[in-house]
Amino acid sequence: MENKQEIELYLGECTGCGACIELSPIFFAWDEYNERPILLQTIATQEDLEITINFCPGDCIALGKSK
Ligand code: SF4
Repeated sequence: MENKQEIELYLGECTGCGACIELSPIFFAWDEYNERPILLQTIATQEDLEITINFCPGDCIALGKSK
């Protein structure tokens, strides 16, 4: 069984680069008003988001407690 965890998004250091939307469009969408990403889903596996988490220049994305 895949280990699904809650997606946590902390936008304090977000640069607005849009990479999360490019890399994981299933999980992130762009909020035009705030010019920051929003979550489309609340849970994911480490595998789902590993590349995006590692790429994010603001270290904004994390996976929390297991479901
Ligand atoms: S990849 Fe990180 S810094 Fe870039 S828009 Fe997404 S959350 Fe913000």
